[in-house]
Amino acid sequence: MQFNTYTMAGTRVAVWLVNNLSPEASALTAVLSSYDVHEPMVTAGEVRALRPWTRRLREVFEAGTVAEKAERADGLLVAADCRPRLVSHGDGLPFHFHYAPVRGSLASRVEALTAAGLAHVIDDGGGERLRACGRVGCGVVFADTSRNGRRHFCSVRCANQVNVANHRLRQRRAAVVR
Ligand SMILES: [Zn+2]
Ligand SMILES: [Zn+2]
Repeated sequence: MQFNTYTMAGTRVAVWLVNNLSPEASALTAVLSSYDVHEPMVTAGEVRALRPWTRRLREVFEAGTVAEKAERADGLLVAADCRPRLVSHGDGLPFHFHYAPVRGSLASRVEALTAAGLAHVIDDGGGERLRACGRVGCGVVFADTSRNGRRHFCSVRCANQVNVANHRLRQRRAAVVR
């Protein structure tokens, strides 16, 4: 599947929020402005307001099947009252999707953007690529944009830890058999 940066923005923001549950308002502002979110100035109150939402985003990544992910993402579309609109911010500027009214609160716009982002990935057939790290206890989530879609760990570090543990387990089993 093709991950285009435009539809991926919502997913990238969702991933960042889930992996940074209590961010500094300025850090979230920086992330949102890097994805061209309109008027991205976050307050501490909005960070708090987004926390329960972030837990619901995590549930999409942690769901075991694509059907469950789709069901949860669909619930987010409803909860965020996600309604796409074509918006331009001035004469001659390009039209693009907004998923909530431009005048809405930043928290409500971020909710709609992230719900739409995850829904787009699932619609594109990439639901299975929304994953939580395979190392028990890690908890980091990611969107697997690798070509073959077989990335199961958030980092080389987690992959190595699990590989080393599996290797030791095999050695121990082999020792018992001997
Ligand atoms: Zn815009
Ligand atoms: Zn990990």
